[in-house]
Order: sequence, then structure tokens, then C-alpha cells
Amino acid sequence: MTAPLIDPFQRAISYLRVSVTDRCDFRCVYCMSENMSFLPKKELLTLEELDRMCSAFIDMGVEKLRITGGEPLVRRGIMTFFNTMTRHLESGALQELTLTTNGSQLERFAGDLFAAGVRRVNISLDTLDDQKFADITRWGRLPQVLRGVDAAQKAGMRVKINVVALKGFNEDELFDLVEWCAGRDMDLTFIEVMPMGDIGNEDRLDQYWPLKDLRARLAERYTLKELAERTGGPARYVALEETGQKIGFITPLTHNFCESCNRVRLTCTGELYMCLGQEDMADLRPALRNHLGDDTALQTHIREAITRKPKGHDFDYARQSVDGRVSRHMSHTGG
Ligand code: SAM
Ligand code: SF4
Repeated sequence: MTAPLIDPFQRAISYLRVSVTDRCDFRCVYCMSENMSFLPKKELLTLEELDRMCSAFIDMGVEKLRITGGEPLVRRGIMTFFNTMTRHLESGALQELTLTTNGSQLERFAGDLFAAGVRRVNISLDTLDDQKFADITRWGRLPQVLRGVDAAQKAGMRVKINVVALKGFNEDELFDLVEWCAGRDMDLTFIEVMPMGDIGNEDRLDQYWPLKDLRARLAERYTLKELAERTGGPARYVALEETGQKIGFITPLTHNFCESCNRVRLTCTGELYMCLGQEDMADLRPALRNHLGDDTALQTHIREAITRKPKGHDFDYARQSVDGRVSRHMSHTGG
């Protein structure tokens, strides 16, 4: 291994999130507009290039790889990529290979993912109601996703359900979601909606349900015990004493989690974003494509980019206008 990646604030970069496609088979209202235009195929890193890129990061100390998108499982041939990453798990260089998915393709892929070494999966699911699910995802169907959840558990993967907290949409399902996850021994994390990209007519201020309100609602029924556990990411955790369940809260807007940030994000075109909430990025694709067979230039570019990792982001809903918003979609940078 070469020298680890340390940023100017002495944070070691050990976690890479990789968006393998900007495409998706859903059109969630908070994430995409109905008529999205997607990148032409030639713009995307090939599966071999994704392998080279991830391997370079692993060589520099990245221990955790999360594959995301868009919907990662709609990328053609994606299992080839997972299978090539297995060698890094086997060598011990990579501690964890995981993915975030909408679950639509899991029925098909769960077994193969487990065989490739994936032991945990985050599945995004905002409601347990068929009609509401169709409304929020525009193109999704709930039964298909529920079959995906079943398949993931059956294959032996630990499942975490990610729920975007949406005012007036899933407020009334809070306890149903908690109980459903408890009954199936799945972890649960709530995410505050973030100002990412242009999504058409939806007004994000209307959708914003602060997690401190959600948490207060939970505390009406359960005893919440704060857990010290931090993952270097934006989640904070509580345990519900009555069920023993762990619940996560991702509150990028109301809480500053940046001081312990250990992660960077790679887009499907090879741009490295050092912070989800900032526009600065490094385009690593030329270093990859101009130096076939030699990753020295690529590693130099990665190191240079890490020296630009900012102290934190500037999201702020507080002034009634969405300040600090970034123009790209979540599906571009990878959530
Ligand atoms: N398609 C996969 C999925 O839905 O899990 C992976 C990509 S998706 C962009 C990753 C996560 O970002 C999902 O949990 C999704 O709910 C969340 N997300 C998308 N747009 C968001 C937004 N504007 N604010 C907060 N979370 C968002
Ligand atoms: Fe697709 Fe995930 Fe975005 Fe929904 S949140 S549109 S499933 S990328």
C-alpha cells in the first residue's frame, strides 16, 4: 500500500462512494424530475475503468466502498464490477463492499451480491403504502421492492432501510415503519431532505420535515437512548429501549457532521467530489485515460484533490430560501 490519504484537517480518507450510473428505473420526486436527460454512454467510466479507479483508492487506504447511483443495479454488467472487487476483500485491503439501492433489482441480484462479498445493503423505501410508493417514486412498484428486501435477507445480507422524512407524506407512517423494521430485524435510518439539483415543481421547503421533530414524535412512544457510535458519516444513532432497535438520523442540514468526515465521492464520469455540499471537484478521467497501464498520474491527481477537501458544507434552510444548494442531482454525485 502507498501512503494513506490525509486531508488538510487531518482526516484520513478511508471511505469511497462510487456512483456507477446516473440512470434509474424510478423518478423519486425529491431526487429527479420526470424528464431527466442522462449522460451518453461514452461519458461513463467503463467497468474496467471503475475497477482501476477503485483499486487506486484502495491502494491508498480506502477500506470501505459503497456503490450507488442513480440505481447501481440498472448498470449493465454491474455484477462483473462487484466480482472484480471481491479480490480486495479477499486480500484484506478492503474491509467492506456495500451498496445503496432502491431494491427494484434485488430479487435478481441478491444471491450474486452475497457471493461477491456484499454483507450489508441499504435499501431506500419511504412508505409501505402501494399508492404512496407509486406517487413518490413515480415509476416504482412497491411489491417488487418488497420482494427485493426479502431476497436480500434470504441471501444473508444485513438490511438497512433508508427513509427520506417528508412532511405530510410519511409522517403518519413513522410508527408503522419502525415496527415493520423491528419485526424483520432491519436497521432503519431517517434522512432529512436535501437541496440537490433541479427537480421540477416540487418545493423542497414544503417537503422539509426536520428530524428533530420526527425524533420528538418517536420519543412520545419509545424511550430513546443516545448511542455514542459514529461511522465518520452524517448519521447519529439512538436505541429504542422497548425494541432494542437501532435508529439512525442523517441530518446534514441541522447538524454539522463535517468534522469527522472520512469520505469522498466519485461520479460515474470520474469526477471526485471532496464534499457532497460543495461544487469543487477534480476530474480524474484524463489521468485515467491518458495513462493506460500506469496509475502513478492517477494517484498524484487523487492526492492533489484530497488537499482541497473543505472543512465543511454550507447547506442552510434557516433563511427560508434554500441557501448553499448545489446544482447537481443526488443521482449524479451518488447519495
Ligand atoms: N437509487 C438508489 C437509492 O435510491 O437508494 C441509490 C441512489 S439515491 C440518490 C441514494 C439515497 O439518496 C436514497 O436513499 C435517496 O432516498 C436519497 N436522496 C435522493 N435525493 C435526496 C434528497 N434530495 N435529499 C435527501 N436524500 C435524498
Ligand atoms: Fe432513483 Fe434512488 Fe433517485 Fe429514487 S432516490 S430516483 S431510486 S436514484
